[in-house]
Amino acid sequence: MSKPTHEKMGFSTRAIHHAYDPYAGTGDLNPPVHMSSTYTFPTVEDGMKRFAGEQEGFVYSRVGNPTTVLLEQRIASLEGGEAALVTASGMGATAALLWTLLQPGDEIIADKTLYGCTYAFFNHGLAKFGVSIRHIDMANPANLAEAISTKTRIVFFESPANPNMRLVDIAAVSEIAHQYENCKVVVDNTYCTPYLQRPLEMGADYVVHSATKYLGGHGDLIAGAIVGDAETLKEVRFYGIKDMTGAVMSSQDAFLVLRGLKTLALRMDRHTQNAQAIAEMLADHPEVEVCHYPGLASFPQYALAKRQMAKPGGMVAFELKGGFEAGCRFMNALNLITRAVSLGDAESLAQHPASMTHSTYSLEEREEHMISEGLVRVSAGLEDTADLLRDVEQALSAA
Ligand SMILES: *Cc1c(COP(=O)(O)O)cnc(C)c1O
Repeated sequence: MSKPTHEKMGFSTRAIHHAYDPYAGTGDLNPPVHMSSTYTFPTVEDGMKRFAGEQEGFVYSRVGNPTTVLLEQRIASLEGGEAALVTASGMGATAALLWTLLQPGDEIIADKTLYGCTYAFFNHGLAKFGVSIRHIDMANPANLAEAISTKTRIVFFESPANPNMRLVDIAAVSEIAHQYENCKVVVDNTYCTPYLQRPLEMGADYVVHSATKYLGGHGDLIAGAIVGDAETLKEVRFYGIKDMTGAVMSSQDAFLVLRGLKTLALRMDRHTQNAQAIAEMLADHPEVEVCHYPGLASFPQYALAKRQMAKPGGMVAFELKGGFEAGCRFMNALNLITRAVSLGDAESLAQHPASMTHSTYSLEEREEHMISEGLVRVSAGLEDTADLLRDVEQALSAA
């Protein structure tokens, strides 16, 4: 089957067309969902060659399936990477990549603020296998220059960070990391998607995604992706995925993410428009201590946001003056914005980290990781802006 490339075309064109020929095969406009766990060999000699990697073709769906491979080609193109690998979840992506790259004695330097399960994977998972973890405030790249050593194998961060929206200067951090030959930079690009930010173009080595969020975009699946150089990703496919984690994406989920990608640019524009309006309203509100949103001129890293993000995105965090209790009252007063974790869906979602995603941290740990008691995180959805603003306004009056 010919695989047309749209490599020179725009982002949305590639998100819709790249690597699929609708005239080939049975002429389906949409890529077929290949529901097969295994693939046939015409002769034993063909089977031998496929196992040896000397013949093109599929063997078994834990290693590759035509629908997931198409999604991989599309995501690689959108992130500007040589190759991509799709996984059963965002955690599956981070786990498969790091299990492949790390060995006992290696060190990870990670930002202070991380998605909760990534934090647990590093500190409770990898730490048991002789990998050491250091958390630094990577918003200041000088802290990395001070902490890094020949032991450092991985520099890992999110930008913006979940849940407090702090940014990391991807180019500056990558430059410091690459003074050490063995050190690789991994960016969790879930909050931005490649439409808003492409870390590989700024010097990062690998991007990981929770495709559960904006890439899928409809809150109906759990999925992940890794993007980077083809040689390493082949290792991740055969070791991190095939043998270590088995974190394989199903072909039905790959189909849903392919469908989500078709509207990614449109959705991100609308998410951003709604988030900007909510952030501006919150920033001026007397109940609000501070609103963290990269699109506000008052945001401490506003200049960096302008430089490395095409737009400030759909996530807003803000701190209520009334602390933990006010956070709970605000959450309970919401009528339209839905109380739920996750993000990137058509529905606007709100969560209160101190009572939800970060409730397993002690008060001191939350302070240490810059998650205040009155912090509320909103994932701005695709609803009408005026309805969202009305809901935030009335919930604030209850806080
Ligand atoms: C949700 C999320 C993850 C984990 O992804 P899953 O698909 O839930 O496994 C990792 N990083 C960030 C920033 C996330 O928001």
